[in-house]
Amino acid sequence: MMNAIPTAVQEFALQEEVAYLRRQVAFLTRMVAISRLLNSTVDFNHLLQLIMDTATEILDAEAASILLVDERTGELFFAASSGTSQEMLQRIKVPVEGSLAGTIYKTGQPLIVNDASHDPRHYDGVDACFNSFQTRSLLGVPLTVRDRSIGVLEVVNKRDRQPFGDEDVDILFALASQAAVAIENARLIQRLQDANRRLAELDRLKSNFISIVSHELRTPLMIVLGYASYLHDSSSPDTAEKIDMVLKGARQLQGIIDQITNLGYLEHGVSSQKRESFVIQELVAEVCEQWRPLADGKRQSLQVRLPSHPITIYADRTQMAVVLSNLLSNAVRFTPEGGSIEVSVTPHTGSVTVAVADTGIGIPKERLEQIFDRFYQVEDHLTRHHEGLGVGLSIAREIVEQHGGRIWAESVVGRGSRFSFSLSLPRVL
Ligand code: ADP
Repeated sequence: MMNAIPTAVQEFALQEEVAYLRRQVAFLTRMVAISRLLNSTVDFNHLLQLIMDTATEILDAEAASILLVDERTGELFFAASSGTSQEMLQRIKVPVEGSLAGTIYKTGQPLIVNDASHDPRHYDGVDACFNSFQTRSLLGVPLTVRDRSIGVLEVVNKRDRQPFGDEDVDILFALASQAAVAIENARLIQRLQDANRRLAELDRLKSNFISIVSHELRTPLMIVLGYASYLHDSSSPDTAEKIDMVLKGARQLQGIIDQITNLGYLEHGVSSQKRESFVIQELVAEVCEQWRPLADGKRQSLQVRLPSHPITIYADRTQMAVVLSNLLSNAVRFTPEGGSIEVSVTPHTGSVTVAVADTGIGIPKERLEQIFDRFYQVEDHLTRHHEGLGVGLSIAREIVEQHGGRIWAESVVGRGSRFSFSLSLPRVL
């Protein structure tokens, strides 16, 4: 009997402790579930809503708010709050100095105010925005990521009208530490998505620009080149010298346009083709005329040998013009002044071969395959005399192969090179 009282007290204390431990286990289990949920939510507004719902639920509060700091202005703003619209919220800026949220944010310490209406730090501007809402009591904790405060999580008015206590602080702290990391991650993901969207837009603009440059500028430039060389031949030596300058500038521009066209193909590939039927001789003649002023500029003879009966192929006309242009560009660049270039079209049974032969510097036998690789150039880039990016032949090969054809080179160093490509002819039914 003597021991009955202490035993009852001990048993009561034990039961209390067991109940406390049970609550703790339930709380920790809940926190693990919450943490998983928060970390799997990447939509920013949904995440904020989830944090507020969880905070009001586990603390049995009437409302919750999340304030974040605007990194540019250093001001706190309502990122989300139960019971009001997003637009309304965006208008509420909370001063860091002298406000409850500001104090929590600055000190990094939790704050309980069980009589908010009498606390001078309570910012009335907030209640005014929430229809007939009045803050009686408030508990706020900082949202901290790696020792950096990013905002404040607040809960308002316990439903049973009880004051907020230390256990509430622990609970909200635990939630806030998970919430802060999730908010930071969601913000990073959002920034990444925004940046990706902007990049995609820039990429689209760049592609448009490339196609404008390569298609729209080419025609007027050819007119400039054609007329300038015509005037050059029929003018006095004094004027011809000046026209030479015009021709030189226009040729440089053409070189740049060619490189841009090639880069466009390099980036987007050659697979999207618009095939049509056309007479190959017409295309060859057209492209050769575009290059004639450049060959003339180096006093090279440019001969074009075409069979008289029209040969119709089924291919992407623009891409075929690029193949021929790239071969002609090389022939002009790698053939010294006064040399000659010959372009020919030869029909075979079921196929046609187009060849560009020059009397230029030539290519060593062991490099004849490698020159078709991307960025491969025979000359060392340090001692290089010729311009170019080393992509023209690789693009020509890609285009020809996409058309089911073949491209190859033959050459003798110091004597010249011959580049040929052959394409199958469409079967006539
Ligand atoms: P780029 O001409 O811009 O360097 P290409 O892919 O068109 O790139 O050509 C790759 C390399 O092949 C050139 O750098 C050059 O060394 C060699 N080459 C191509 N065509 C000729 C040619 N007609 N005569 C001599 N060398 C050539």
